[in-house]
Amino acid sequence: MPGLDGVASPIMTHIIDGKAIAQEIRAGIRREIETLKAAGHRPPGLTVVLVGDNPASEVYVRNKEKAAKEAGFTGGETRLPAATSEAELLARIAVLNSDAAVDGILVQLPLPSHISEPRVIEAIHPDKDVDGFHPMNMGRLVAGLPAPAPCTPLGVMEMLRRLPCDLEGKELVVLGRSNIVGKPMALLALHKKAGANATVTVCHSATSRLAEVTRRADVIVAAIGRARFLKADMVKPGAVVIDVGINRQEDGKLCGDVDYEPVSKIASAITPVPGGVGPMTIAMLLKNTLDCYRRRTGA
Ligand code: NDP
Repeated sequence: MPGLDGVASPIMTHIIDGKAIAQEIRAGIRREIETLKAAGHRPPGLTVVLVGDNPASEVYVRNKEKAAKEAGFTGGETRLPAATSEAELLARIAVLNSDAAVDGILVQLPLPSHISEPRVIEAIHPDKDVDGFHPMNMGRLVAGLPAPAPCTPLGVMEMLRRLPCDLEGKELVVLGRSNIVGKPMALLALHKKAGANATVTVCHSATSRLAEVTRRADVIVAAIGRARFLKADMVKPGAVVIDVGINRQEDGKLCGDVDYEPVSKIASAITPVPGGVGPMTIAMLLKNTLDCYRRRTGA
């Protein structure tokens, strides 16, 4: 990248330590809960619902549970067998909706195929929807109104804020348009407010000349679920690259959607996988739960 004197200068790449940032956020939340308890308030409650025995889901749920407990949340996990009917799951959610001590409900996805995910998501009370997937909260996100937003893109925004990487006026390219990552990521970055205000392009499997689009980006968020898809020749030197992807390789190890080694040589900042976006997702789940608690209790 040319320096101010016009002479090419090497890029010092900042490796974004998502684990450390997430630890800091979690410690802050723990302190907030201690303060709340010292003032005589009850702690916030989070219930994670797991249906079936998907091994990856079990790991995610265990990690979320552990983080919630460490931060001082009450609640726990509701484990239901894979044969649970949709009606039984909806009934369980109704009980949690009306439980005053439960501030956040998270139903771990994917659900067994006989259960409709959209129906289950809509059954969670929007005020307790700590995943931010409820259509009402999605609508509020579109409108720029306060609401719990999906944890992963929220974590990406928090990382960018702390870099610091001011998105204002920057070209942000989001790879992927899922409801849980790509679309909410684009919306959060698009909001006309401090820390956002980017010019956003969303790419998907039908995008033509994708590399031309990604090469324009000041910031790239890759969330497509394709191992090492984003190559160095698709990235503008000096760009910030956030890798949301989690892909299991043949050797059992995890890798992201970004071809990490070569891209890290030209990016100004990059997240590793693991240790990048993943830990931030859990930290934002705790933040969303604390926010829901505050909105519900006024504490
Ligand atoms: P989805 O499968 O729901 O969506 C993938 C998106 O990528 C789709 O919009 C799809 O396009 C697009 N896509 C797929 N292939 C290509 C391609 N070749 N070129 C351009 N776009 C493409 O995935 P998720 O959003 O749920 O997850 C994405 C990745 O992020 C996964 O690896 C997942 O494991 C990871 N993840 C990580 C989290 C974390 O905490 N770190 C949390 C959530 C997800 P189309 O719409 O046209 O099909």
